[in-house]
Amino acid sequence: MYKTLIPIFDLDDTLYCEHDYVRSGFKSVANFITSKNNTANAGLIYNNFINVWLSHGRGKVFDIVCENLSIPFDIAKLVQVYREHQPKLELYDDAKEVLSYFNTKKIPMGLITDGNSTMQWRKIKSLKLDELIDVIIVTDDLGFEYWKPNAAPYKKAAKILNVPIEKCVYIGDNPNKDFVTAKKLGMHTIRIVRPVGDHAKTRLNKTYEADKEIYSLIELLENWS
Ligand SMILES: [Mg+2]
Repeated sequence: MYKTLIPIFDLDDTLYCEHDYVRSGFKSVANFITSKNNTANAGLIYNNFINVWLSHGRGKVFDIVCENLSIPFDIAKLVQVYREHQPKLELYDDAKEVLSYFNTKKIPMGLITDGNSTMQWRKIKSLKLDELIDVIIVTDDLGFEYWKPNAAPYKKAAKILNVPIEKCVYIGDNPNKDFVTAKKLGMHTIRIVRPVGDHAKTRLNKTYEADKEIYSLIELLENWS
């Protein structure tokens, strides 16, 4: 069914584990605080970041930890250090295999990702996706209003790939925003369910869920081989 389709991927938690990025960002911020304040202990700060993240989610980690440990810091600066740090990331094994398969078969590929532009491009470079994927759209480069589920990035990807949008399949992990517009535009959609990830347990109604669910990207290959 998918043989002639052009795959367009999401990035975070689809091609690599976003929690790896979060941990690496926390490490950079803990080191940054210690570099500016030599009474601070980077290991202690890092462990606090992890504990608050696991109990309260990611949103207020820096505020809560700085308050708990009485570290007076400009939170906006810490967010900037987090977003601008250079991560060392690895693709999921199945992503590595599938991207290299499509590459060998000369099947063009796309990527559409949301998130702060500097941060997303650093992830992309770290994973060397710019060497593997033909069309990369960081929606933040178009403007905050163009983040998914805005239709513009999907249309733009299909246009640059030079294929009708109905010939594209969007592969992502987040039913809140990955599939709803893609489906309205006539794209095929596939949800990858990872054991780890912010959306692993999210289940929404049919409008938001993908046409198909898979548990490893390797399952894609049977449709293209
Ligand atoms: Mg994602």
